[in-house]
Formats: sequence, structure tokens, C-alpha cells
Amino acid sequence: MKTATGCTVISNGSVIVGTGIGPIPDATVIVRDGRIEYVGPTKEAPLVERSASTIDARGGTIMPGLIESHFHPTYFNIEALEDLDIKYPVEYVTLLASCNTKLALECGYTSARSGGSLFNVDVWLKKALESDLIPGPRMATSGREICSVGGLMDWNPDFRKIGMEGLVLLVNGQDEARAAVRKLVKDGVEWVKTYPTGDAASPDLNDHHTLCMTFDEMHAVVATAHNHGLKVTGHCRATEGIKNALRAGYDTIEHGTFVDDEALEMILRRNTPVIPALYFELASIERGPEFGLSQRVIDGHKETLDGGADSARRILNAGGRLGMGGDYGFGWNPHGHYARELSFFVNYVGFTPLETLTCATKTGAEILGREHELGTLETGKLADVLVVEGDVLADISILENRERFIAVMQGGIVKAGQLTRPTWRND
Ligand SMILES: [Zn+2]
Repeated sequence: MKTATGCTVISNGSVIVGTGIGPIPDATVIVRDGRIEYVGPTKEAPLVERSASTIDARGGTIMPGLIESHFHPTYFNIEALEDLDIKYPVEYVTLLASCNTKLALECGYTSARSGGSLFNVDVWLKKALESDLIPGPRMATSGREICSVGGLMDWNPDFRKIGMEGLVLLVNGQDEARAAVRKLVKDGVEWVKTYPTGDAASPDLNDHHTLCMTFDEMHAVVATAHNHGLKVTGHCRATEGIKNALRAGYDTIEHGTFVDDEALEMILRRNTPVIPALYFELASIERGPEFGLSQRVIDGHKETLDGGADSARRILNAGGRLGMGGDYGFGWNPHGHYARELSFFVNYVGFTPLETLTCATKTGAEILGREHELGTLETGKLADVLVVEGDVLADISILENRERFIAVMQGGIVKAGQLTRPTWRND
């Protein structure tokens, strides 16, 4: 992904650095050749050449680009589990995924980690993004997901003989788990996404307290992935599944819904980031009936919401790390509303706006393994910067409205927001 050349001065706003420290009022950010050169009070800012570009934050907020830590670029209008795999042919899914990445950038998300993708679409999306062919977040890829036979993601009955090849690699035992990871190694993914547990979406066979992989399978995944330099994550709701993942050496935990004292202690000792992706549960409860979700499924989402909110509070209060992301792409939780996750964590879970933004920026960069160059506004880092109308710390829901972005900058280049004045929109 190209970076800007020359100098841009962003001023007349409060700066949220992203490290968790309070805002710097009346501040200036100077960007040179795509990287941050100065962040601090305007009155102490160094003089720059007259030819520098300027951006007026109009008394609003200057902050790091947001990081979506659980992004499904290929999900689109999912209304049932079956839709995840076979709703559209892969050619159309690829086009939709490209639209989703553009939308995510317009929403202020300058980086994203894929939480699973149909076929290998996210790997090739990343190539197109890095080559500046399409706009979108800097991407970390995961390709197809791994689940055991009969688990949450193995829903097509055998008599249909269509398998699950689009979205998941189904495994039985350690040898097949290793073989699946090796396939993903060849596909070129960076993260291996697995399904250690079930979900409220499958109340009969694989509910949120059911295990969908054995520890031995999970351990085989981790050993093979780490050997090739890949990281491992997994959909972990049930308490025992969370512990299995931590013992197996998972690099992050998705959801981490039912964390007991022992699991919390393990999370803290290993400093393993957890990505709750929890607003989805509230959306499922509120809008599920419109989409025909059964009462049993909705009850399961309620239990997941309560357990997940409690676990997230305990992890953050104990000094653990949380990333912000969500299962956007469902009918009742569509792409383009990623920042609802942030408002939800402030209004429902009880985090402060600053805590929530730190999860969505600094911790997101740590999850990507790119904290040396992304996630905060600090000298030398890539200038992935949002310039936003209004005081985001006073009202975090401002971030839900992409019309409020004055500029969405990646590597010092303004890619979206009011300053780009698009001639057409894909609303
Ligand atoms: Zn997901």
C-alpha cells in the first residue's frame, strides 16, 4: 500500500493518541511522507514548509484509524447458517467482499483482521488492497476456517454431497487437523481460524456449551501453524473450549464468552487478547424475530450476551487485552455499522469511551502484530488517521456516522471522508 509524499498538517482538534492517555486539547499532527512526525500541542508544533497541505479538524477529534479485529469480508446478508457457505457463487462473493472492504474504510476502519472467509477470497483481497487496486483496510488474512466433522460449521447433511468446502475445512483427528493447516499454509493465510465450540445459533447439536474440536485436534493445529509462522484463533464460547484453546497455545480468543476464574487467570498469565464481538448478540436478540430466529436461539443469544459482557468486563478490569470487532455481514447486523460495537461497549457493557477506543486501536494493532507501525498516533508510525467532526470522547456514537469523517487517512493519503468528495456513493 502506497504512502503519501510531502507534508500534511492536521490541526484545530483534540488528539486521542490511542495509548489510553487522555486527549491532547488544541493539538496538531504533522504527517511527513506517510508517517507521523509530530503529535502534540499546536503551540509547540515545529514550523513546516509553506507548501505543506493542511487539514482543519474544525474543533473535532484527531485519532488513530480504527481496527476491526473480527472482520468477515465475504459475509453478506446472512440470514441462516446455510447462507454462510452457499448463498452466492464465489465470483459474486468476491465482488461483494471488495465492496465491503471499501465500505469498512469509509467507516474509518484502516486495518482489519479477517475472522474467516469463503474460499481464499481474503488472501486475494489483501493482494488487491496492498497493490492499491481497491480501497480498504490493511488486511490480515485467514481464508477458510477449520472445524471438526459434526461440529458447528458442518451443517450440510451428507446425502446432499456438497460438503462444506467453501467456508470450512472439516477434520477428524490430529492428522486431518494438520493436513487442513498445511492446506492453509499453501493458500497463504496469516491466521488459522478454528471452531473449538458451538454457538447459540445451533441449539440442537452444537450450542454455546458444546465443544466442536478436541484438545488434541486444536494442539495439532497450533503446532503446525506456529511451525510455519501462522497464528491461530478460534470461536470460543464454552468455558472448557476457552481453556483448551489457551492450553493449546492459541494466539487470540474470539468471543471468550463464558470465562470462569481459572480461564481468566490463564488469559492474564498468557496475556492473550480476546475479541468479544458481542454487539452481534444484542442485534440478534433485538432483530432476530424479524428474521425468523426461534425463541430457543434468541434465548441462547441472551445467555451469550450476559456471559460475554460479564467476561469482557472482568478481563478488562483485571488488566487483560480486548480487541474490538464484530460479526458484521448478517441481515440483522450488516456491514457498514462496525462502530456500533464501540457504542455498545460504552453504553451496554460500561467501558469508558477512552478504554473502548484503546481496544479498537492500540490493542487491534497488537493483535495484528503491527503495533510498531499502527494503532496509535506516535512519531514514526504510519499515518493512519481519522479526522472527525465533534468530540468522540463525549459521544462515541459519532463514529457510527461516516458523514462525520472529515478525513480517513491511510499512510498519509486521504482515502475517504468529506475531503474526498466522492462523485458517487455506494449507499
Ligand atoms: Zn465471526
